[in-house]
Amino acid sequence: MKAAVVQQFGRPLFIEDRPIPEPGPGQITVKMEASGLCHTDIHAAHGDWPAKPVPPFVPGHEGVGIVYAVGAGVTRLHVGERAAVPWLGYACGGCRACLTGWETLCEKQRNTGYSVDGCYAEYFLAEAAFAARVPDGINPFEAAPLTCAGVTTYKAVKVGNVRPTDLVAISGVGGLGHLALQYAKIFGATVAAIDITDEKLELARELGADIVIDARRDDPAAVLQSHGGADVAIGLAVDAKSFETDYGSLRRGGRLVLVALPAEGTLTIPVFDTVLNGTSVIGSIVGTRADLAEVFALHAARRTRVIYQERDLAGVNEAMDEVLQGRAAARLVLRP
Ligand code: NAD
Ligand code: ZN
Ligand code: ZN
Repeated sequence: MKAAVVQQFGRPLFIEDRPIPEPGPGQITVKMEASGLCHTDIHAAHGDWPAKPVPPFVPGHEGVGIVYAVGAGVTRLHVGERAAVPWLGYACGGCRACLTGWETLCEKQRNTGYSVDGCYAEYFLAEAAFAARVPDGINPFEAAPLTCAGVTTYKAVKVGNVRPTDLVAISGVGGLGHLALQYAKIFGATVAAIDITDEKLELARELGADIVIDARRDDPAAVLQSHGGADVAIGLAVDAKSFETDYGSLRRGGRLVLVALPAEGTLTIPVFDTVLNGTSVIGSIVGTRADLAEVFALHAARRTRVIYQERDLAGVNEAMDEVLQGRAAARLVLRP
């Protein structure tokens, strides 16, 4: 089978021929139909973050396909069913985080396409317990972006405690942002969307943003303050400076939810203002299996739209360039 492999940080991925992986106990092998290209995969391939994956590795954590083989003891997924493989590839199930509904914070977790090989391959392995069944009626190219971009932003909206009277700022209308905007609307909020390309600003309008801000031309913080300030700002732009703008856009009692992970991301905030304004700054990492099931249920109920374009797995390097240059549709999805 073909797999796209990071052999060295910052170098193009290499298409390798590898044997089809065989599932061990508790595992499944999935035959890929669609694999979303998350900006995280670009950070992984560049070695952008303090905790780095170890090359050679296969990125990808929005993997959707058909179960091809099951290992010993697997009962919840069967050969022939459609499954989705997310970033949370494994969690221990027994630690305090796991037992309190925060498996995404488990210290023993394994991450698909980062600490274990991921889904940029014709076949990939997953722990059956952490793969999701994709409901009938969801096409694999829409299921893929929901598997990370969807669950991550759905969770961020929950973590931000978004309420119907809130003004929510969505900073960055890319793969994550175009879904964040829709979840904030589903929670009943008024939504402001911020981006720096005409296409993404147009997409935000099309998806129902109430306020659209071009950060090349206007200061989003000033615009949002003219509307009374945002109750919640969700930072999804791959630009460390944008977090300070997001912070500055909040009203008193506001919540800044940090999601994007730009290389060398540092946010400096004034203690005095944070205390007197009762501001919260919250980090939010992907979502649980239960969150992902809710994301799929919302999509099956036609409450969300996934905007994507298909690319060949073999063209993964060009696809990454498109994302970096801001030319891609909200999400690019690789096909075998
Ligand atoms: P993307 O490239 O699809 O989208 C980023 C968007 O931000 C683009 O539309 C871009 O035009 C816009 N942007 C860039 N600079 C901007 C600025 N200054 N102001 C406003 N908009 C700006 O990326 P993505 O796949 O949506 O991922 C976004 C980030 O989220 C990445 O850093 C990724 O690693 C991270 N991520 C985090 C989690 C998590 O669990 N916390 C999960 C998935 C992805
Ligand atoms: Zn992701
Ligand atoms: Zn655990």
